[in-house]
Amino acid sequence: MASLLGNLFILAAPSGAGKSSLIKALMEKYESNTATPMQVSVSHTTRQPRPGEVDGVHYHFVSREQFEALIEQGVFFEYAEVFGNYYGTSRVTIEQTLHRGIDVFLDIDWQGARQVKKLMPDTCGIFILPPSLDVLEQRLNNRGQDSEEVIAGRMAQAVAEMSHFNEFDSVIINDDFATALNDLEAIVTAQRLRTGKQQMRHQVLLDELLGSA
Ligand code: GDP
Ligand code: ADP
Ligand code: 5GP
Repeated sequence: MASLLGNLFILAAPSGAGKSSLIKALMEKYESNTATPMQVSVSHTTRQPRPGEVDGVHYHFVSREQFEALIEQGVFFEYAEVFGNYYGTSRVTIEQTLHRGIDVFLDIDWQGARQVKKLMPDTCGIFILPPSLDVLEQRLNNRGQDSEEVIAGRMAQAVAEMSHFNEFDSVIINDDFATALNDLEAIVTAQRLRTGKQQMRHQVLLDELLGSA
């Protein structure tokens, strides 16, 4: 696994902190840049689709029985139960994509992040924090996609999720969106430029520069 060309990134945060918006903005910014191919991993989940969510695009929506069968078959790289539903990342898709030199972004919770870090210590873990609890609640309300009970449940879990921030390599405060997006880009760029990956990507140049010395 250590020799995979692509970089694996994890974005975690309490629900509503802005992970999905930041990942989406990053993808749109780099969409036309073929030198930095990147992809968001599409998880499997047993939660109900929100209005506008498309099966296979936002998530692979499956029943609890189907999810448990997939666990048995060893399909998941990691999985966890979050807010009473299962969420999981498929192993084959991640490995094949990284193998092709494409960076992969996982939008997963701290339990999944811990499993991934153990399997691939090279993974870059990023934690997103909101500027305050009040703002977090406002964002969940403004998003307008979850019921009052669901929002109350997510707020109740927010502090527990945030208490894991120090298991991640970097922390971004998502107050001003443009600033947070710049911070995310800086982390991604630094990760891509690490010596091991550059060596794999630029072996021909290195051979040329160093000759047979
Ligand atoms: P969001 O918090 O508004 O993005 O709500 P979601 O319903 O999309 O995600 C619910 C929780 O499940 C979040 O904490 C996600 O990080 C987590 N999650 C999503 N996909 C996965 C996954 O594949 N594996 C794991 N372990 N957690 C996931
Ligand atoms: P998550 O994926 O972490 O649950 P979202 O990306 O869905 O969070 O963001 C929650 C809501 O907050 C969305 O309506 C989004 O448009 C809004 N939002 C995200 N970042 C900011 C920001 N910096 N300032 C204001 N609103 C934001
Ligand atoms: P939502 O239901 O709002 O889409 O997601 C709720 C939480 O589940 C988010 O914090 C999200 O990061 C997490 N999540 C989504 N997919 C996965 C996954 O595949 N694995 C894990 N561990 N968490 C996930």
